[in-house]
Amino acid sequence: MNGTNFIGKTPSAKGSTTFHATNPATGEQLQPAYHEATLDEVANAAQKAAEAFQVYRKKSAVEKAQFLEAIADEIMALGDKLGQRYCAESGLAEARFQGERARTVFQLRFYAQHIREGFWLDARIDPPLPDRQPLPRPDLRSMHQAIGPVGVFGASNFPLAYSVAGGDTATALAAGCTVLVKAHPAHPGTCELVASAILKAAEKTGMPDGVFGMVHGTSTAVGMGIVQHPAIKAVGFTGSFRGGKALFDAAAQRPEPIPVYAEMGSTNPVFILPGALRQNGSDIAKGLAASVTLGVGQFCTSPGLTIIEKSGEGSSFLNVLSQNIGAAAPGTMLTEGIHHAYLQGLAAMSQQPGVKELAKGQSAKAANQGEAHLLGVNATNFLANKKLEEEVFGPSTLAIQTGSKEELLKVAKSLGGHLTASVFGSPADLEEYRDLIDLLAQKAGRLIINGYPTGVEVSHAMVHGGPFPATTDSRTTSVGTAAITRFSRPVCYQNFPQSLLPDELKDDNPLNIWRLWDGSWTK
Ligand code: NAP
Repeated sequence: MNGTNFIGKTPSAKGSTTFHATNPATGEQLQPAYHEATLDEVANAAQKAAEAFQVYRKKSAVEKAQFLEAIADEIMALGDKLGQRYCAESGLAEARFQGERARTVFQLRFYAQHIREGFWLDARIDPPLPDRQPLPRPDLRSMHQAIGPVGVFGASNFPLAYSVAGGDTATALAAGCTVLVKAHPAHPGTCELVASAILKAAEKTGMPDGVFGMVHGTSTAVGMGIVQHPAIKAVGFTGSFRGGKALFDAAAQRPEPIPVYAEMGSTNPVFILPGALRQNGSDIAKGLAASVTLGVGQFCTSPGLTIIEKSGEGSSFLNVLSQNIGAAAPGTMLTEGIHHAYLQGLAAMSQQPGVKELAKGQSAKAANQGEAHLLGVNATNFLANKKLEEEVFGPSTLAIQTGSKEELLKVAKSLGGHLTASVFGSPADLEEYRDLIDLLAQKAGRLIINGYPTGVEVSHAMVHGGPFPATTDSRTTSVGTAAITRFSRPVCYQNFPQSLLPDELKDDNPLNIWRLWDGSWTK
């Protein structure tokens, strides 16, 4: 590792500002020093991505798929070196590394397979109607095409799956876009190793220089430099609300505004209905405590709000939840900054009117360890205070006790956008609370019955998104094959001769892909 930026494949370290990664468990400063990119380096990298785009966009689906698969192979070829650096920079365990790496290479291969099949292109062909009265219809054909170079920002809590070769990069490359990554300053070494794997894969599969680049930085100037550069045509972001909203606003203010797909924090409400509380409240409470504390609560799908009716069963449920949160061991958080923000967030929430601490997990035994917390509030105080819905990133949840079904529905109605909403209910509950489920469908990207929100499957039907403030664009997802379309735009060809049409839209369908031919899906 040499601590440089990558202007396309060329290492570059012109800036005088440097920083190091730190092991959050030990406080040890990790070598080497990383050079923050200068604004010139950012501009050169964006320019290179724009030049490479003119070549990469014309690569066939098979060539792009082979590139994605080669990235997966090169990540695996990094072997133990990658795991050691990942664990040292994040404080996450070896088992978590294994799981996250498997997810990262799976999604690269899954998206590769998907673009080979061509379905994502949404190819449509409306044959001409020369005899139509009063006017003939022209020959019209359309399909999705790559939007241009994409700026990608990963989050601290997934150093692989939402980082350099994570979902945003994989879907942008799958769509035919070149990518410029802002490396996350919490795990620059992991970023550099994965960048080297991507560059090797690009070399081996004959991709143009600039198909991938990466810049480092601890100041917002580097990220802003990417978003404001005229060559960048879209942004994929995973991280905090503060960061995502700032980048979204900057993109909207450009002379040429561009889309920013920011996936941000969420508090993922979990509603536990009376029948479920009666039948298996204790088991649900144990499972909920495990979900709250999983990964030291550092998941965007962590359940931060628990809504129950005030009743005898509700009290028993809270007792079991308190016992399990109380028994939870502390865990090292990703960075000193995230640990500090967790303590501040908890302190701020505890001071809000009506909020009480119901349980606290085992005490921290080392620096940067997050302790589990269960806070409680009644629905009246919750409804009066929007602050209580904000994410406190870490192993805590706020239990909201409601006095009646009407009050529970009021709480649901008051919610902003979330990535997920869960409902635990008996069959009778689910019938009785259909109106709750209908309300939640307007609030979240993924609705879960009798399950916890943590764990996001990479599949065709997954929606990892949701209305603002969970994301800046509720119309899409950042996980699953539907995420590829974010980095494309539809183009229509009118009255084109066969020889000038892309292969995907030619009459004889040489690529054998699914197409909407005169209103019917066909190969
Ligand atoms: P973060 O602080 O927002 O950082 C994400 C990236 O954006 C970093 O590279 C950061 O660089 C950059 N950035 C942040 N603010 C910026 C600004 N104003 N201008 C330019 N660049 C900026 O997020 P994080 O702490 O790493 O991640 C934790 C958060 O991510 C949690 O809120 C979690 O819920 C969320 N998350 C969401 C999802 C999802 O899919 N919705 C998935 C995982 C995590 P600097 O640090 O150099 O500023």
